[in-house]
Amino acid sequence: MTTDPPQEHDTPTGSNEGGPTPWDRVLSRLDHVHQVGGAVIARCPAHDDTRNSLSLGTDEDGTVLVHCFVGCTARHIVAAIGLSLADLFPANRKGADLPGLTVERYAVAKRLPPEFLKERFKLRTIRRQSRFCVEMPSFDEEGERISTNYRMKLTKTDGIDDRFQ
Ligand SMILES: [Zn+2]
Repeated sequence: MTTDPPQEHDTPTGSNEGGPTPWDRVLSRLDHVHQVGGAVIARCPAHDDTRNSLSLGTDEDGTVLVHCFVGCTARHIVAAIGLSLADLFPANRKGADLPGLTVERYAVAKRLPPEFLKERFKLRTIRRQSRFCVEMPSFDEEGERISTNYRMKLTKTDGIDDRFQ
């Protein structure tokens, strides 16, 4: 007899007053949830998915991030599992939702753990005026910073799963 190991998801736990976190709420409604190299993937409920096209993560404040490689929008994805966009946000969430790109959002699109991007590539989220953006430094062979790029949004190629093409 075999039993599947319990799923463990490394997520920031906001104090949610005992209720299910947005993360639990979303994951409990998805099929084929599993972790691949630190990224959490599942079947996208918003299209006829046979490849676990959905990548999931949490933003710094605990907001659930969903990204479908086929291009389904977050609105369609949550609607397909009987939720609304508001269900992606933690109940105790404070402050306005800043548009733009965070390391966590980038990581979900890339199917990479945000910690890996922060440690290996020194990416970090900064605020510029009223937007988030990701600081992406490049280093020379001696480890000196030679330039810094700032990304305010995902590009088309960030989120496209080309491994099957
Ligand atoms: Zn989809």
